Amino acid sequence: MSGRLALIGLGPGDARYVTPQAEAALAAADALYGYGPYLDRVAPRPQQTRHPSDNREEGARAGAALARAAEGARVALVSGGDPGVFAMAAAVCEAIEAGPPAWRDLDVEIVPGVTAMLAVAARVGAPLGHDFCVLSLSDNLKPWSLVERRLAAAAEGGFVLAIYNPVSRARPLQLGTAFAELRRHLPAATPVVFGRAVGRADESIAVTTLADADGVPADMATLVIVGSAETRLVPRAGRNPLVYTPRSAQGVSA
Ligand code: SAH
Repeated sequence: MSGRLALIGLGPGDARYVTPQAEAALAAADALYGYGPYLDRVAPRPQQTRHPSDNREEGARAGAALARAAEGARVALVSGGDPGVFAMAAAVCEAIEAGPPAWRDLDVEIVPGVTAMLAVAARVGAPLGHDFCVLSLSDNLKPWSLVERRLAAAAEGGFVLAIYNPVSRARPLQLGTAFAELRRHLPAATPVVFGRAVGRADESIAVTTLADADGVPADMATLVIVGSAETRLVPRAGRNPLVYTPRSAQGVSA
């Protein structure tokens, strides 16, 4: 039997976001690997072993899943959202590149999922309706100076920004520093959207401005969208405003 590894995106939370393709790949697995809370979202099946691991252990988790697949197992490695967005797919590619030649012979399937920024954007309107950039604020794998350069370049370029990993216990202050950097390039009234735990029971959404963004709490389950100078709100009586970025841009402001 030749081993295979499926990298499966579970979406942002609610089971309704799990695609039929992801369901089929989960059902076909002998062994499930992943960060514990993500694995907890997958219903147990008889004959399937489960191998939860810690958040920080991505390299080790990738290696363990690949080694099991190389033994001939059908392995599923789950990620929240999409496996290719700040998640396990790149960790597995790194492990295959650096690992034993036999790992290159494995059948690797990547099953996309609904990434957090799409779920958050869908809650408020169409903030990603024009050009946008995606950035992780974590400086675990890159220097903070590079994060600041990219924030400035994205704002200067007129891109809407989707910010993953805005804070962690080890990094309580960086989101505030990021907003301060963005205020140097963007109007104070620029809309900012906070989406927390979207698709889960404790979901919350807040829409504010860049000027007031420091007042909104954010944690590790929060995705932040910072508009461009073009992003606007459509007020609606008795309903939440629609936040959107028009499809066209004049190239006069950034
Ligand atoms: N692969 C995941 C992202 C992993 S990085 C995806 O595609 O969504 C982890 C970051 O994703 C969190 O810090 C947060 O910024 C964001 N995130 C993940 N799930 C979320 C959710 N349900 N609601 C809001 N943000 C979420």
